Amino acid sequence: MATTAKSKQKKTEISEAAHDAEDFLLEQLPIPQALRNHLMFSIGKSNSWATPRDWYQTTAYTVRDHLMGRWVKTRDAYRDANTKRVYYLSLEFLIGRMLSNAALNLGIAPELSEGLQEIGQKLEGLSELESDAALGNGGLGRLAACFVDSMATMDIPATGYGIRYDYGMFKQTIENGQQVENPDNWLRYQNIWEVQRPEHTCEVKFYGRVVHVHTEHGIEPHWVDTEAVVAMPYDVPIPGYGTQTVNNLRLWSAKATNEFDLAHFNEGNYEKSVEGRHSAETISQVLYPNDSSASGKELRLKQQYFFVTASIQDILHRFTNYNADWDSLPEKVAIQLNDTHPAIAVAEMMYQLVDHYHLQWERAWKLVTGVFAYTNHTLMPEALETWSVDLFSTLLPRHLEIIYEINHRFLQMVNQHFPGDTDLLSRVSIIDETHGRRVRMAHLAVVGSHTVNGVAALHSELLKTTLFADFNKIYPGKLTNVTNGITPRRWLNQANPLLTELLTKHIGSGFQKELSLIANIEPMAENKAFRAAFREVKAANKQRLADKILQKTGVILNASALFDVQIKRIHEYKRQLLNVLHVITLYNRIRSGKAQGQAPRVVIFAGKAAPGYWLAKQIIRLINDVASIVNNDPAVGDQLKVVFYPNYEVSAAEILFPGADLSEQISTAGTEASGTGNMKMALNGALTIGTLDGANVEIKEEVGDDNIFIFGLTTPEVAQAKADGYNPWDYYHGNAELKQVIDMIGNGFFSVEEPGRYQAIVDTLLHKGDQYLLLADYAAYVATQEKVAALYLDQEAWSRKAILNVARMAKFSSDRTIGEYAKNIWKVSAFSG
Ligand SMILES: *Cc1c(COP(=O)(O)O)cnc(C)c1O
Repeated sequence: MATTAKSKQKKTEISEAAHDAEDFLLEQLPIPQALRNHLMFSIGKSNSWATPRDWYQTTAYTVRDHLMGRWVKTRDAYRDANTKRVYYLSLEFLIGRMLSNAALNLGIAPELSEGLQEIGQKLEGLSELESDAALGNGGLGRLAACFVDSMATMDIPATGYGIRYDYGMFKQTIENGQQVENPDNWLRYQNIWEVQRPEHTCEVKFYGRVVHVHTEHGIEPHWVDTEAVVAMPYDVPIPGYGTQTVNNLRLWSAKATNEFDLAHFNEGNYEKSVEGRHSAETISQVLYPNDSSASGKELRLKQQYFFVTASIQDILHRFTNYNADWDSLPEKVAIQLNDTHPAIAVAEMMYQLVDHYHLQWERAWKLVTGVFAYTNHTLMPEALETWSVDLFSTLLPRHLEIIYEINHRFLQMVNQHFPGDTDLLSRVSIIDETHGRRVRMAHLAVVGSHTVNGVAALHSELLKTTLFADFNKIYPGKLTNVTNGITPRRWLNQANPLLTELLTKHIGSGFQKELSLIANIEPMAENKAFRAAFREVKAANKQRLADKILQKTGVILNASALFDVQIKRIHEYKRQLLNVLHVITLYNRIRSGKAQGQAPRVVIFAGKAAPGYWLAKQIIRLINDVASIVNNDPAVGDQLKVVFYPNYEVSAAEILFPGADLSEQISTAGTEASGTGNMKMALNGALTIGTLDGANVEIKEEVGDDNIFIFGLTTPEVAQAKADGYNPWDYYHGNAELKQVIDMIGNGFFSVEEPGRYQAIVDTLLHKGDQYLLLADYAAYVATQEKVAALYLDQEAWSRKAILNVARMAKFSSDRTIGEYAKNIWKVSAFSG
């Protein structure tokens, strides 16, 4: 590496020369003129022929011009300073649309709106023509998207690494009340926000075998007879808000090593000649639509290794280009593993350092554990990834050997500290010998990382006492907490311009970059005129949502009703079904005249079910069947409406959150690691009805007990109930209203043409033990909903609490979250030129 210093000097000279040119390029044309230029020179049209999509693309090109110079400058500045970088490895980035967000973060949104208006176009309408970048399932992928926004905003030198799926999260339609999954062909039109970087392609190997070869370095393992695929990077600019920083998100796409097999082509066998190409390119074709469950499929492991090896190669190339001493790796590189999906990176970096760069094992291991940190997102057993040793040895034989060696040394260390505790050894081993032989990815991640964090205070405590209790004993201090957050740019400013405007009028706009300033609005909760203005904003956002719902479902809503909203992936642990039990209870009370004087209520659901998760799909169907009975019952009228909003995605969320009065966060205590939907709702002025689960606990601490509706069993009470032999039948027989509701579901009240349709749902609640304790929490939930309904009748009191919720959300900015990662885990600070 003696030549590196020289090449570094040369690169610095080039980049200094380039800087002058870049400064020139940073000067921009006036927006109306830039728009006209792009319509002509990028789209090739004149005004009279331009379609709305042409105008969208024209606008996107214009905004992109403002990104490019800053992007180049940011990259050059990081490189010239040879600063420590953060690499955020995530199989998912649920970004959503980029146009409005980029304009907002660049600070050109007002100019852009005006410029478009001048030529007869509207920004809002054009934005809607952009497909969501839906490269994620739900909370975990959205977290990664909020994090890249915050890292750029806070000038943290960071790169996201992920996969450029050809097809993102499926599009959900509802047909006959049932979920239908449609492919998300988001790249059908040109994606203006990405730049292909063919000069940074990497080779990715699979299969083959390991041979031991005599070389100048001694006997070395060589991974041979492999099948190769090429990883092609596409870079996406991530602009910070209120800063010149534009970071990079590098997404890998799989390409065949050869365009096609020339031998087969020349034989005239065209089909065969493209076959290999298809199978290679399958790797990045589609996002797995499972949320909180491991799939165990070979293609999934291939996806994980594919993006991990490409990213690690890329990171190490960058490091060796500018650094001569391997031991400085942890001073230059911090890698965060978003869940265990990229955990194979621990073995991959050992493979690169030991096999490729010929470092001694001990030295390499010290570097690896100085670089990696791992975020755990769940305690639920079905989400914990394990891979069969057989699959591993077929697909990645050398990496399996490396994992065995890591495990051997780790278990030796454990045995020294806890001699003779063979149960402990088998519990913490990276190889699970009890369920066939399987590789436990969470254990690999914990052993290979210097820090492991949970995503909310409760979750991190539970990690220490349950899932990782043994590791907490072996590695005291390794486990920590970093409570999740959300970016206020997208989830307040962009999603809720009216509330942003109202807040800005009273406290200035500083809260968008520094959310702690939002506390300044708190005194206004006591101001009657402000409360009225706040209600007007909420009313407008509810009307905007009602209009969208009418357009999508045909259901007409009264926007003065209480909008009761549960939007998140459909999962038994999230207990949409408990919400349905409450809806049917309300329905029965209305029909029997026992709901007099209650505020009218609209219950809104949205969320996708994993295509293979049959029961979750049944829950969607039940919601729609209940909606169709309730909404068409003349005895009910406006008192109750039920809506299933189809195709929950980021752009839908931006309409749904601001329109909510009541935020449903009702998971069984101990199951939701954090939640972030809970934060988005409260920031947009909804009150929460929730259990003491995930970040709800901290939301309650922040907003105060009087400004949140908490109900249900706590985590220790859930554990106790289960230990005491919880029996759902006791609750069924002990509560006449509950019994009536379950009987109606079971006897086909909502599915007259097929009375047995929901037998499976009744079975999970009664005959299969009600794993998530819906029946145990039912009475408390219904009673708490009565308090909600009563409070809603007092609009002044309700608004006061809603304003306090908004004012007390500072903690839940992802800027705060990223600040904690940077200081405590990555040891990086804001980059200053
Ligand atoms: C915030 C968000 C989620 C996560 O919601 P939870 O309620 O925390 O499960 C999922 N999907 C989308 C589109 C989101 O914006």
